[in-house]
Amino acid sequence: KLYNQVQDLKGNIRVYCRVRPFLNGQQNNMTSVDHVDHSSITIVTPSKYGKEGKKLFTFNRAFGSNATQAEVFADTQPLIRSVLDGYNVCIFAYGQTGSGKTYTMTGPKELTEEELGVNYRALGDLFFLQQQRKETISYEISVQMLEIYNEQVRDLLSSEEIRNSSQNGINVPDANLVRVTSTADVINLMNLGHKNRAFSATAMNDRSSRSHSCLTVHVQGKELTSGNILRGSMHLVDLAGSERVDKSEVTGDRLKEAQHINKSLAALGDVISSLASKNAHVPYRNSKLTQLLQDSLGGQAKTLMFVHIAPEYEALVETISTLKFAERVA
Ligand code: ADP
Ligand code: MG
Repeated sequence: KLYNQVQDLKGNIRVYCRVRPFLNGQQNNMTSVDHVDHSSITIVTPSKYGKEGKKLFTFNRAFGSNATQAEVFADTQPLIRSVLDGYNVCIFAYGQTGSGKTYTMTGPKELTEEELGVNYRALGDLFFLQQQRKETISYEISVQMLEIYNEQVRDLLSSEEIRNSSQNGINVPDANLVRVTSTADVINLMNLGHKNRAFSATAMNDRSSRSHSCLTVHVQGKELTSGNILRGSMHLVDLAGSERVDKSEVTGDRLKEAQHINKSLAALGDVISSLASKNAHVPYRNSKLTQLLQDSLGGQAKTLMFVHIAPEYEALVETISTLKFAERVA
């Protein structure tokens, strides 16, 4: 194997936690985040006796509010490089709306090079290594962009719905697969995908927080001397917001959306936690998301879950629910 460091990391499932900084001038507000360490976060919780309580949560890695995109990527890179060895990798961004999922995966709205997210850096790294290894292995890299909304899968690179196949859940090969050779190609495709996604939102307000978006990277490498073929893949998933919606406050479409989101995030949690506890039965079939990613979850595949925390004290209920999700899948 080319990148032995991946083998050194224990287990195939990793959970990283990231705390978003306070936004524009809110720094003096109350926070629920007491302390962030290399691999733990301490949360301030109100105790029923009126005094503050503290609760410690541990992860494979924790990032405080001043962690940079480069620092976060540095701990993600070994996983991404293993794709070139033929591994399947899934990276998820989980958390309530506004907690920083899209920032981690893509970056802020106004992108600067410094603030590029995991998606761009991952592809950039694959291109870099592809170039470095070109004397021995010839790699082809292609991407797909999918969206799952209300348990329907859409191809963001062609604006057509993907047909379900009866046997294997979803026919991903039906989705457009586009060959890419540079970070500029990826930026162009992602812009197209985001445009298609925004277009489908029409009358509804921002749908991006209520759908899962998935950038899939397929890598095929051919060893020039032996002719051996290696295949690896990477799914980079910006999940729908995990916040609980009050059933008494929403009806109709919003209620349906909320139920689909709850169901699919719960199904994802069930799959990862049963993989983590090495259960014989893994319930992949309970959601489109887990069906879609079935071949890339479990077995030799590697999974990284980024859980995102908003620092505001008002977010405490969602923060605790996010941290409990993280505990369950770790
Ligand atoms: P989500 O995708 O979870 O709804 P966003 O990624 O859109 O949340 O983040 C909400 C806002 O906070 C955005 O304006 C984003 O740019 C900003 N933000 C999130 N995380 C960070 C961070 N680590 N550093 C700076 N700004 C951040
Ligand atoms: Mg988002």
